[in-house]
Amino acid sequence: MHEFDIIETYFKPLTENRPEAGGLVDDAAVLSVPAGHELVVSSDTLNEGVHFFSNVDPVILAQKCLRVNVSDLIAMGAEPYCYQLCITFAETPDEAWLRAFCGALLEDQKQCGIFCSGGDTTRGQGGLSVTITAMGLVPKGKAVPRSGAREGDILVVTGALGLSYEAVQRGEVYVPPLRHALVGAVRDYAHAAIDISDGLLADAGHIAKASGLGISYSDEILEWSWDHLTGGEDYELALAVDPARVEALLAILRKRGLEPFLAGVFVPDGEGTQFKSTKAGWQHF
Ligand code: ADP
Ligand code: MG
Repeated sequence: MHEFDIIETYFKPLTENRPEAGGLVDDAAVLSVPAGHELVVSSDTLNEGVHFFSNVDPVILAQKCLRVNVSDLIAMGAEPYCYQLCITFAETPDEAWLRAFCGALLEDQKQCGIFCSGGDTTRGQGGLSVTITAMGLVPKGKAVPRSGAREGDILVVTGALGLSYEAVQRGEVYVPPLRHALVGAVRDYAHAAIDISDGLLADAGHIAKASGLGISYSDEILEWSWDHLTGGEDYELALAVDPARVEALLAILRKRGLEPFLAGVFVPDGEGTQFKSTKAGWQHF
């Protein structure tokens, strides 16, 4: 199958006929940012041999690629808008593979209200590589930064951690959840937010560092194994929340069927929990 036939048959349906994508016949997409809004953009790449095995199920790969990107938008408080899909194949892709991959993308994108606005399709000499660039919309000035935590804020985590680590122990791939329904709660309740891709310590630590604070972790967290503290790929959200508003947020999260928990409190820099190991989470280099 030729490149343009692949685009027409498998990628064009992902545009859901949105005018911004122009039927994938133009050189670029034309996006439209509503007045009073800002465009929030985030990219994530998944590489064969690093992020997934060669025999990965295309459905799982598609879900993972899209969900990790949507997760970044939600962590910024941005409503999913559209995404660019760039794929490098090591060899001519199999049609059953493409059908499964694009079918899974379509299902997920409909759930969270995002569509494909374009992308790139190439052949490369390494393995399969998928990069998604997701774009979201946020009212002007309302994007939630990592740097907004205040002393006394509570560190709220939106759901159980360690599921991905445990799946890997069983030789399985964990498919992260879609937390798009939390975008309003993130904007309304979080002074700072991050999605937990590299482990609780690493990611909550990013909020603390960006905010010039430390974190005093709860006793319950301190009983976790190091693997659970540092195991990544869970894609729950870590939020810094005013203590007076924590109960209201927990009620919202529980109503959505989540099992949020309180992991600690933001304290002045240097007064937080000190861990002996310095390698707090996954790093590529
Ligand atoms: P160019 O030659 O300028 O790179 P292409 O011929 O690669 O353009 O792409 C043609 C059209 O197809 C563009 O609108 C592009 O966004 C779209 N496209 C290419 N690959 C993909 C893909 N993997 N997913 C979605 N759209 C794609
Ligand atoms: Mg191209």
